[in-house]
Amino acid sequence: GLLPPFRNEPSVDFTRPEQRAAFAQALSQVRSRLGASYPLFINGRELTTEKTRASVNPADPGETIGHVSQAGPDEIAQAVTAARDALPGWRATPVPDRAACLLRAAQVARGRIFELAAWQVVEIGKQWDQAYADVGEAIDFLEFYAREMLRLDKPHQPPSLPGEDNRLLYQSKGVAAVIAPWNFPLAISCGMTAAALVTGNTVIFKPSSLTPVIGWTLVELLGQAGLPPGVFNFVPGASREIGDLLVEHPEINVIAFTGSLEVGMRILEKSSKATPGGRHVKKVVAEMGGKNAIILDEDADLDEAIPAIIASAFAFQGQKCSACSRLIVVDALYPALRERLVRAVRSLRLGPADNPANFMGPVADREALHKIRAYMDLAAQEGQILYQGKPPAGAGYHVPITLVEGIRPEHRLANEEVFGPLLALMRAADFDQALRWANAPPQALTGGVFSRSPANLARARREFRVGNLYLNRGITGALVGRQPFGGFGLSGTGTKAGGGDYLLHFMDPRCVTENT
Ligand code: GLU
Repeated sequence: GLLPPFRNEPSVDFTRPEQRAAFAQALSQVRSRLGASYPLFINGRELTTEKTRASVNPADPGETIGHVSQAGPDEIAQAVTAARDALPGWRATPVPDRAACLLRAAQVARGRIFELAAWQVVEIGKQWDQAYADVGEAIDFLEFYAREMLRLDKPHQPPSLPGEDNRLLYQSKGVAAVIAPWNFPLAISCGMTAAALVTGNTVIFKPSSLTPVIGWTLVELLGQAGLPPGVFNFVPGASREIGDLLVEHPEINVIAFTGSLEVGMRILEKSSKATPGGRHVKKVVAEMGGKNAIILDEDADLDEAIPAIIASAFAFQGQKCSACSRLIVVDALYPALRERLVRAVRSLRLGPADNPANFMGPVADREALHKIRAYMDLAAQEGQILYQGKPPAGAGYHVPITLVEGIRPEHRLANEEVFGPLLALMRAADFDQALRWANAPPQALTGGVFSRSPANLARARREFRVGNLYLNRGITGALVGRQPFGGFGLSGTGTKAGGGDYLLHFMDPRCVTENT
């Protein structure tokens, strides 16, 4: 039948008691399954390794979520062989059949949405509503890319002169390595994978070492979608052991990566080296970090701006590449903003994400904790701490919400991504200077402006150069289809997840001309 037009999955409504109850029940269901063992998945078969790694709850590192088999060089070799051997069949599979696999996976995910969200609460400390939204976004990617590929599958006919017939067609690049982050552990994993699969690539998926159990849920979803063996392979493992192997492997054609600038640049460098036996230039689709700013114009509506700032800077502990980490305030508004923001932030409750009353939970792991704390120390040197909350006691990886003021464009805090709940306030003389400061870092991912001046908003549209600019609203939570997401500069290779041209990055165009 005909597919209905794409629509975003609705968000959860916790004012409805049955939705609250469904989430709580999913959490206890997930809790009853903690500590299980998880295999690799290669060539349609589960594979356990001698070496395993425990994935733990960042709010309570004593709680093991699962014991996960770890891929090493042998398993990577097996996965690449499987994916390579499955390629001709999958590439030749008609697009409607490939799209149907994505739609089936979406249907399975929809039926398990609360449970899939609950895994994120325990494995990475995501709040209920945001975990649910992550699963909703995963479903959106499946639904959206299925439709996009069906659209691209129509014949493309460039202009032809009489006597010639020109046709443009797209073929998959080949074997794709998907290297996924922990912060949107299902959505981004699923989005990159779905794009690679529906365009006819076979996939080797490496989840983040911090969220391999959530990664396994993607194996389950796609397992019920009817993919032939070898088309999708799951290789959890330590990045330092298998990351370079994947990236440098001569039989990998395309690498889809979301993560830090440091790792992204390393992938770009390693993937561009000619390898013995290599027959192509590897394509890298990389989404990296941001140093995102919200500008507050002097006439900004603080009733609107304050909640949007808090959500943008501190939701999921500030661990989004879209998060706001600089607040650039035009001089006249500064005193009022400062006072209102501190009061609002003071009221936020901190604690484990399994309790939905807590606004902010733990950060990802010990390493993140140390890195963020070091930036908080630096904040006290470069500027003045305006507010620092008290993190909850206990063994969880909690850090305090921190506001620092007096940050200037030359400071490290104005240029380096923290990936934690640390917001730098910068006081600009006027809108002109605010805009210049906003554009100063080399990252160009998200940005926002609160203003009531049509002229200043129009100016921001033209001159605030980021991948995703938001006017008079928060700067996180891009929706598939509606806000194609991704940046440029040092934020990434300029691609747009959930956008109309994303799939083209996973294919090579061919033009066939017939003399008729
Ligand atoms: N797409 C997410 C958003 O708009 C951010 C993704 C990321 O952090 O990688 O908030």
